[in-house]
Amino acid sequence: MSSTAQENIYVEVALPRGPRGLLSYKIPQQLRDRVVSGCRVLVPLGRANRRMTAYVVSTSNEKPDYSLKEVLDLLDDEPLFDPIRSELFRFVAAYYHVSLGDVIRCGLPSGLNVADARMASLTDAGRAQCSTEPVLALLQEGDRPVKSLKVSNSQLLRLAKNGLITLRYELERPRVTARYVSVIQPTGVSPSRPLREGASPSLLLKILGDDGPQEVPSLAERVPNHGAAVRRLVALGAAKIERIQVFRDPWRGENAEKDVKPTLNSGQASAVAQVGAAIEDRCFEGFFLKGVTGSGKTEVYLHALELAMAGGLGGIVLVPEIALTPQLAGRFRARFGDKVAVLHSALSDGERLDQWELIRRGERPCVVGARSALFAPLPKLGIVVVDEEHDGSFKQEEAPRYHARDLALKLGQLAGCPVVLGSATPSLESIANVDRGRLEMLELPVRIGGRALPKVTVVDLRDHPPVRPEAILSQPMIDALEETVSRGEQGIIFLNRRGYANCLLCRGCGHVPSCESCSISLTYHRARRRLTCHYCGFVQRVPSACPDCSAQSLELVGTGTEQVERILGEVLPGANVARMDRDTTRGRQLQSLLNRFRSGEINVLVGTQMVAKGHDFPNVTLVGVLLAEQMLKLPDFRASERTFQLLTQVAGRAGRHLKPGRVLIQTYDPEHHSLACAKTHDVDSFVAMELAQRRLRLFPPFSYLILLKLDAPDAHVVQNAAGRVTYRLKEVIGQCGLNVNVVGPQLAPLERIKGRTRYQVLLRSPDRSALHRAASVVTDADSSLLGGARMAIDVDPINLL
Ligand SMILES: [Zn+2]
Ligand SMILES: [Zn+2]
Repeated sequence: MSSTAQENIYVEVALPRGPRGLLSYKIPQQLRDRVVSGCRVLVPLGRANRRMTAYVVSTSNEKPDYSLKEVLDLLDDEPLFDPIRSELFRFVAAYYHVSLGDVIRCGLPSGLNVADARMASLTDAGRAQCSTEPVLALLQEGDRPVKSLKVSNSQLLRLAKNGLITLRYELERPRVTARYVSVIQPTGVSPSRPLREGASPSLLLKILGDDGPQEVPSLAERVPNHGAAVRRLVALGAAKIERIQVFRDPWRGENAEKDVKPTLNSGQASAVAQVGAAIEDRCFEGFFLKGVTGSGKTEVYLHALELAMAGGLGGIVLVPEIALTPQLAGRFRARFGDKVAVLHSALSDGERLDQWELIRRGERPCVVGARSALFAPLPKLGIVVVDEEHDGSFKQEEAPRYHARDLALKLGQLAGCPVVLGSATPSLESIANVDRGRLEMLELPVRIGGRALPKVTVVDLRDHPPVRPEAILSQPMIDALEETVSRGEQGIIFLNRRGYANCLLCRGCGHVPSCESCSISLTYHRARRRLTCHYCGFVQRVPSACPDCSAQSLELVGTGTEQVERILGEVLPGANVARMDRDTTRGRQLQSLLNRFRSGEINVLVGTQMVAKGHDFPNVTLVGVLLAEQMLKLPDFRASERTFQLLTQVAGRAGRHLKPGRVLIQTYDPEHHSLACAKTHDVDSFVAMELAQRRLRLFPPFSYLILLKLDAPDAHVVQNAAGRVTYRLKEVIGQCGLNVNVVGPQLAPLERIKGRTRYQVLLRSPDRSALHRAASVVTDADSSLLGGARMAIDVDPINLL
C-alpha cells in the first residue's frame, strides 16, 4: 500500500462555541501529514467565512458526499488531547447532553483559541465628531474590537452607516501564550576588542563569568544601560543570546519544606497495599476509602501516588475547594517536591497554561487540583484520587454540568487505573456503589494519635428559646462562647450558606410545612402566597397559623453571617469576631483572615461551608451550629445528607489537638436522624436510615434525575416555553412507553435571578437509559421549541433550587 492511500484528507471538527454538531473540512495538501486528532485548526465558518478555532476529533480519507471547505491553518504542532481524553470528552458530551466542543474547551486551558473579531476604526468624519460621541472618543487612540466598546449592534451599524466608523474582521491574538525570555550567556571567547575597565559591558561580562547565564530583563537592576551592554558583548563575540521558554510559577518561588514520611498504621498499610496492587496491574478498580476526620486518608493518597510514580506513572488528586487546594497541594509538594503540579481557579491563565504544559510533557506526574484537574493531560495515568468525594463542588454548575467524581471513575475505566474516592462522610451514591459491588470499601477506623472525637451537644430550642437581640442565640450557646473566650480559646460559629431558601418555620414549635408524599419541605412562593413541592408538583395555600401549635409564628427560615457577626459583637464585648464567607474572602484576603485566626488575634470566627473544610486550628475548642433547620429543611432531598456531612465536618474542626473540643448544635428537631447520628459520630447508622428513606421515596441513588432549567426576562415567554417542553416530553414518553416521571413545568424555588424568571421541569426514572432518551428529545430540538427562552439541562443535578 502506498503512503498516499493512507493519507488523511478530511477532518471532523468540534467548535468551542456555536453549532452543536460536528463539521467536516478538507485538509489542504501541505498540512496533510500534520493534522491529527487532538490538534486545533483554524476553519472558515458560515457564509461570511469567519475564521474560528476548531478541535480535530477525527480524520479520514473517505470523502463525504457533499462539498467541503478547506482547513485554513494548523494551530498546534502536537495534539492537545490524546485518545483517552478524546473518549472521555465524547462520553461527557453524550451523558450530559452538551456539545463536544463545549466539553473540549472546558477540558483545555482557557485563552488559547483565536477567532475573527469585529474591529472598529474611526474615519476622518468620525474623528471630527469625537467630542459628541463617547464611543468615537474611545477609538481615537486606535482600532478596537467591537466587543470592548460596550455598545449595541444597532448603534454600531448606525455609526457605520453615517460614515463615522468602519467595521472589519480581524484575527484576534490568543489571550494566553507560552512565555519566552532572552538569556545571555558567555561564549568563553574573549571580546574581539578590549573593554573599558568599569564600563557596563565589562561589568556584564564579569557577572556572566561569576554567576553564569542571566535573563536579560533581570539585568536592569545590576547593569547600567544593560540593553546596550548586552548588544555590545554579543557584537564582540563574547556572549550569545538564546530565547528559552520560562514557566510561570504558581508557588511564586516559595520553597516547600521536605516532610518526614511517617510509618503507616495497619489500616493505612492495608489500604495502600490494595490500591498498590491495582496500580501495578494497570487495571481499573474503584475503591472507597472511608475514614473519620483525622484518620490519615491523605497519607494513603501520598503512598499510593509514590507507588505510581515509582512505576513511571502519574496520578491526579482532586480536592474540593479552592480554599483547600493550596493547603493539600502543599502536603504533596513537601513529599514530592518539583514533581507536583497544581491546577485550580486561583491560578492566572498563564500559570495554568504552563502547569498544563509541564504535565503534558510528563515533568509533573503528580497533579493536585480542583474538579477541572480531572482533564489534566497526564501521559501515563496510574491512579485517580477524589478526596472528600461527597463534596458538592465536584459538580460544575455551568455547562458542561459534569460531576468530577463520577467522571473520575469513567477516566479510570478508560485509562485502566484504580480510582480512590475518599471521605469521612460518604455520599449515598458512593455507598450504593459499594453495596452494588462497583466500589471496594477500604476503612481507616481510628483517628491518628487516638484522639477522641469532640463531644456533641444538641440544644433543643423548644426548651431553650433563642434570647437576646433578634432571637438567634440560645442561652447555652452564649454561655459556651463566653467560657471559651474567657479561657483564651477560640470558637467557630457555623451557619449554612444557603440560608436564603424559601421555606417557612414556626418559631414557636419548629414545625416546617412539608410534602406528605415526598417528605420534603415545601417551597414558599411569596407572590402567589403558595407552598409547593417541586418534586411532585403538590400545591397548598400558606396557612395563617402553625398547623401544629396554632401560634401565628410561621416565618421564613434564614439568617445571614453578617447578622450573626453583628450580634456576636454585642453579646461578647471585648472579643474579636470576624466573618468568613464567599462574599468577604477571596484569595489572599482569605489567607490573611486564616492567619489572623490561627495567630489568635480573632477569638470567634463566623462562617459558612468554608469554615467546615479541612482547616486545622489547634486552639479551637468550640464549634457552634446556630439554626440546624437552615440546612435540614432545605427543599432538597439531599438536605439530611448534607446536614449530616457538614455537621460531621464542622465538628472535626474542634479539639484536633491536645485540648478537648465540643460542638453545640441549636435546633427545634433534636431527634432528626441527621443530628442524632452526627451527635454520636455514627456514619453507618445515618447512611442506613437515609438509604431506607431514599428507597421509599424513590430518590437517587434509587432513581435518576434530569432537571431542565428554563429562564427568560419575560415570565410569559419562559412559562410558555416550559409548557411546550413538557408537552413534547410527555408526548414522547407516552408514545414510546418510557418509564419516566415528568414534574412541571413549575416556577423554580428561586423564582427570579438577575432579572430572569425561572421555570423548571424535573424528570425522574429508575431507568437511566429511558430518562436520557426522553431528555434527548428536547435537548436536540430546534430553537422554536424555546421561543426565546434559555434552557439548561442538568443531569444528576445536585442543586435543585
Ligand atoms: Zn408551631
Ligand atoms: Zn411532593
